[in-house]
Amino acid sequence: MTWFKRENGDVATAPDTDGERNVRTEGLWVKCPGCRQPIYKAHYEENLNVCPKCQHHFKMGARDRIGMLLEPGYELVDRGLRSTDPLNFHDVKPYKIRLRKAQEETGLDDAILNAVGMLGPHPVVLSAMEYAFIGGSMGAVVGETIARNVDRARIQRKPLIIVAASGGARMMEGVVSLMQMAKISAALAQLDDARVPYICVLTDPTTGGVTASFAMLGDLNIAEPGALIGFAGPRVIEQTIRQKLPEGFQRSEFLLDAVVHRRDLKNYLVRALEFMQPAEASSQFSVHSS
Ligand SMILES: [Zn+2]
Repeated sequence: MTWFKRENGDVATAPDTDGERNVRTEGLWVKCPGCRQPIYKAHYEENLNVCPKCQHHFKMGARDRIGMLLEPGYELVDRGLRSTDPLNFHDVKPYKIRLRKAQEETGLDDAILNAVGMLGPHPVVLSAMEYAFIGGSMGAVVGETIARNVDRARIQRKPLIIVAASGGARMMEGVVSLMQMAKISAALAQLDDARVPYICVLTDPTTGGVTASFAMLGDLNIAEPGALIGFAGPRVIEQTIRQKLPEGFQRSEFLLDAVVHRRDLKNYLVRALEFMQPAEASSQFSVHSS
């Protein structure tokens, strides 16, 4: 790797315990895209995948996200849905092969996990997207899984939280993937009618059809610092309007109700939910008491 030059030729090794040296250090360091410093992977992993030097927020997988937000004892639900490859799609390789590879690498069925559990003192319904699964793209399985959680939130009257991380619609499912936008938007409209709160947390990146459907429809839309958010990416817009965009255009700080550091996210959500109790829990039908 050209970005990291070893000054003295020494390779860091673990303490010499049993006479064996040459411990592999490859992959233990990453270059932070924020401050361009090499950082020790363990250091940012124990810091919720945030660079300890410049606070750059690295991507976080769906499982880690659920573990970070919900109390132990949460339940994963709606598992086992898998894409049927409705178009029998091939680009440079068959979509079926891409799916299988993504499933093996992430251990997930698709780019989403649904969970039910407690966020601090609040029972919630949570969907977390997985960017490592074909760029977090939304096909039929992601759409159906999210729609099921929206319905669950409405029926059980528990606030809904969606953590978005997505490049947009899944092109390999064509129009089927675009239909998911309408399906989720319709379910969210019912949730809104039922006066159950919905908070969307936009993480890096949240773009394309996901931004256009559910990611901007929250009663509260919050984002992590520096997250790329938009419908088309900045490069596409620059090519279209043939102008350079200003620094920071489409970053979360431009667009959202609030931008919240990852270490503060859980507390922020707990406090937000205190203000947004479902109507039933407060006093929707109560009579003025005096
Ligand atoms: Zn950094």
